[in-house]
Amino acid sequence: MKKTVAIDGPAGAGKSTIAKLVAEKLGYIYIDTGAMYRAVAWKVLDVGVEPTDGNIVGIAEKLDVRLRFIGDAVRVFADDTDVTDSIRTPQVTALVSKVAQLGPVRAKMVELQRKMAADGGVVMDGRDIASNVLPNADVKIFLTASIGERALRRWKEMKAKGYDEPIEKLEAEIAARDKADSEREISPLVRVPEAVLLDTTGMPIERVVEKVMELCG
Ligand code: C5P
Repeated sequence: MKKTVAIDGPAGAGKSTIAKLVAEKLGYIYIDTGAMYRAVAWKVLDVGVEPTDGNIVGIAEKLDVRLRFIGDAVRVFADDTDVTDSIRTPQVTALVSKVAQLGPVRAKMVELQRKMAADGGVVMDGRDIASNVLPNADVKIFLTASIGERALRRWKEMKAKGYDEPIEKLEAEIAARDKADSEREISPLVRVPEAVLLDTTGMPIERVVEKVMELCG
């Protein structure tokens, strides 16, 4: 039977890396829900309006956010624009938690996410997957790591993309985003009691993948 696997956790915990590898091993689809909120934030910046709640909701309501599965790769589209790379800029990262706090934005994204998961065979990562999007998921995992390690991982990732930001700045940005995501009113980041806690501090990627595969057994 094809299962649904929910992976939640704070920023920079390695959710997307792990979810992608596990999905590949299982022959499942990987759904990056953060990318969907990022696509909305990207569009707000692209349009260039002031990011007020009203403007963000207006843009989100009209925007067609889509994940396209091209072979093994997932591409993120905002209307007809491939935004897979442009949603990872520091500007989008700085705006995304504000976008993700808004009820109408979340309602639209959650509906799309549930549709994509309807037939099972998905690994979905985010903040509210086990608690809200897929409360009946077969496997629920809360992936985390120390803030220092998460900042270091983010620094390496950004460095590979040509950004050279001080690690202290990245750590402060991650802490601020975690606070906003955990304290928001609608579907905050939480670990549901039944989710298996996986602290990946000091763990190599292959070991984390192995652990998650065991849990998917
Ligand atoms: O996972 P990623 O860091 O790309 O997510 C970007 C942001 O999108 C998060 O900081 C959070 O504000 C929002 N998000 C969310 N719910 C999800 C996934 C992401 O609110 N399921």
